Amino acid sequence: MEGERWALVTGASRGIGRAIALRLAADGHDIWLNYRSSQGAAEDVAAAIRDLGRHCRLARFDVSDPGAVAAGLAEVTRHRRLSVLVHNAGIVRRGAAFRQPAAEVNRVLATNLASFFHLVRGTVPAMARAGGGSVVVVSSIAAHLGLGGQAVYSASKAGLTAAVRALAHEWGRLGIRVNSVSPGVIASGGAGGLPDGVTPPLGRPGTPDEVAAVVAFLCSEGASYVHGADIPVTGGLP
Ligand code: NDP
Repeated sequence: MEGERWALVTGASRGIGRAIALRLAADGHDIWLNYRSSQGAAEDVAAAIRDLGRHCRLARFDVSDPGAVAAGLAEVTRHRRLSVLVHNAGIVRRGAAFRQPAAEVNRVLATNLASFFHLVRGTVPAMARAGGGSVVVVSSIAAHLGLGGQAVYSASKAGLTAAVRALAHEWGRLGIRVNSVSPGVIASGGAGGLPDGVTPPLGRPGTPDEVAAVVAFLCSEGASYVHGADIPVTGGLP
């Protein structure tokens, strides 16, 4: 146990979360790897983490289900000191808001936004008792830039960045830094994406590794005075 620094990454079986888990492992963290259903992919990421010489444990639970999160986190925090929480799991459902069924609206808000508070309840008290840590939320450019067809998703991500700003005031005295990153269009094969015709000034989409590098910085000692911030990872989009 001595020398272990455990990080919990949600939605780490694929895409940006996978890159974050691997990057944090390369930086010396042991990883709790959360996912919802992609068992084989999660096991592949765990194997890659172990190849880096770090521990990795799978934490399969649906972040939108408060009971499942509480049960999963009881296991996570029972034996190990958690020093990092990265909330990356998220889904997008595109469409005109007035046509979106209530169940779909609730699903996006529960998975992207309410989930964060379930995670916080199950981790932050233990992190505070252990002397502090770092929490990073993966938000989105959609929180800042109006994107047609993404109103519910945008609201969920704007809620996360607003929560980060508020929580900075609550957690500073606990020794817990909290920040967010807002990726633009990232070639992850997954949730995000900009409408056709919107091109980042850097002329290409970002990579999951480029998001992971910023998350890793926020989790590092180098970011010891960065708190309540949102860092765009957008290739120059506003
Ligand atoms: P992917 O769709 O590739 O991966 C999503 C990950 O989240 C998977 O590991 C998935 O697990 C997990 N997940 C989804 N729902 C749940 C749930 N209810 N409980 C637990 N885990 C869940 O997404 P990306 O890598 O593209 O995006 C990651 C994050 O980055 C998201 O929050 C997204 O909104 C944000 N983002 C992405 C951008 C992009 O361009 N890709 C741009 C801006 C923000 P499983 O495999 O088991 O289903």
